[in-house]
Amino acid sequence: MEIQIIDSIWFDKIGVVKIFDGKQTKWYIGKSLMEKKRRAEMMIIRNGKELKEMTDEGKSTPFIVMAGCMVGSVTGERQRYAFEELKKRTPWVQEYINPHQIMNLPELLFKNGLINEWAMKKFDPEKVYGSQTDNKHVFINISTGCDNFCAFCVVPYSRGAEKSRSKEEIIREIQHYLLRGFTDFTLCAQNVNSWGLSMVDKFEIRSGSDQKLPFADLLREIHELEGVKKIDFLSSNPFDFTSDLIDVFKLPKISNYLHMAVQSGNNDVLKRMNRRHTVEDFFNLIERIREAKPDLELGTDIIVGFPGETEEEFLDTIKLFEKVKFDVAFISIYSPRKGTPSEKHLIDDVPLTEKKSRHARLMKVWQENKLRNK
Ligand code: SF4
Repeated sequence: MEIQIIDSIWFDKIGVVKIFDGKQTKWYIGKSLMEKKRRAEMMIIRNGKELKEMTDEGKSTPFIVMAGCMVGSVTGERQRYAFEELKKRTPWVQEYINPHQIMNLPELLFKNGLINEWAMKKFDPEKVYGSQTDNKHVFINISTGCDNFCAFCVVPYSRGAEKSRSKEEIIREIQHYLLRGFTDFTLCAQNVNSWGLSMVDKFEIRSGSDQKLPFADLLREIHELEGVKKIDFLSSNPFDFTSDLIDVFKLPKISNYLHMAVQSGNNDVLKRMNRRHTVEDFFNLIERIREAKPDLELGTDIIVGFPGETEEEFLDTIKLFEKVKFDVAFISIYSPRKGTPSEKHLIDDVPLTEKKSRHARLMKVWQENKLRNK
């Protein structure tokens, strides 16, 4: 099976990727969409059931593979809960593969008699490159996993320890696309800033310091490649964003959009979230980045109703929004994710009605300030 036949079409927005629609048998891969929302897991389970029932209506029997973060959370190196529990909740799934096993998919389909040996051997994992959005832009993964353990987040469990791809591999992939006429590249990672750093080094990096970052050098190197017109990266965090990276913003091919998650406008909440930055660090960074790139467009992620968030603490997030004026904001209502530190050690004590009201109030402030910013 060549990777080109994989038809990655979102199946009716329910978090299911349809990979191949054969004449007799339909195969589906379930994929978790939203890392921070427990509802996403519930949606996958509910829709998986519906998918099976739907196909069971006398037509054909689907072969269902559950892939992605939910599986990583129960089979990876850092488990959030027991694999048996997931199996019990998803008896309609035939096979499970975690994010690191995705390249084994052809083997798995062969093992289950769904493709022949020739098709399996046609698949070459070395030739699987980033996903293209159009004929000039490509997403390039530069690392997987995360070691930051923000209290609310499942990624360190579902995706495992942070592993950076080598510079050579990344450049080779970019050159592959340059030869085919692509010009715009988005470098992706859970936290791009820590690309190439050892476990010890990454926790010594301080927000706004003069410390050097391998990621800043990687950007400089890509910037020099002939044919590259635009470079984006996501996501960044304030806790390891240093002057080295601020300087990179002065380069002309670096995009004017920066996505940097701040999560809250209150330092006590940030501490409970196990974030290694303060609100002051964030203000300082934004001021300096805007000096380096005056037309900067800024995006962020925010959680409202985190355990223990008082009205006063929430008002600090409102103040942050009034001051910074984000162009893009993903505002989430906190919901505990099984097995994460906040679920295990903090009480989800902000009532849902209050969370919804804070979400609506913050959205309003964001929209008003965004308009004023234009
Ligand atoms: S840095 Fe991002 S991915 Fe990593 S634990 Fe924190 S929120 Fe999750």
